[in-house]
Amino acid sequence: MTTIACLHRWTELSRHPTSEGVVIYERCHCGENRIVTATLVRSVTTA
Ligand SMILES: [Zn+2]
Repeated sequence: MTTIACLHRWTELSRHPTSEGVVIYERCHCGENRIVTATLVRSVTTA
C-alpha cells in the first residue's frame, strides 16, 4: 500500500491577533492541521 501525499489545501479556521502578529489556525481536508504566524504589516493603507 502506498500513502498518497496530500498537497494540503489549507482552510483558515480562525485567526487570533497577538502582540507579535497574527496566529492563524488552518486545516486541510485530509485532517492535517497547522498553525501559521503572520507578522503584522504596519501601515497598511487603502487608497
Ligand atoms: Zn492535506
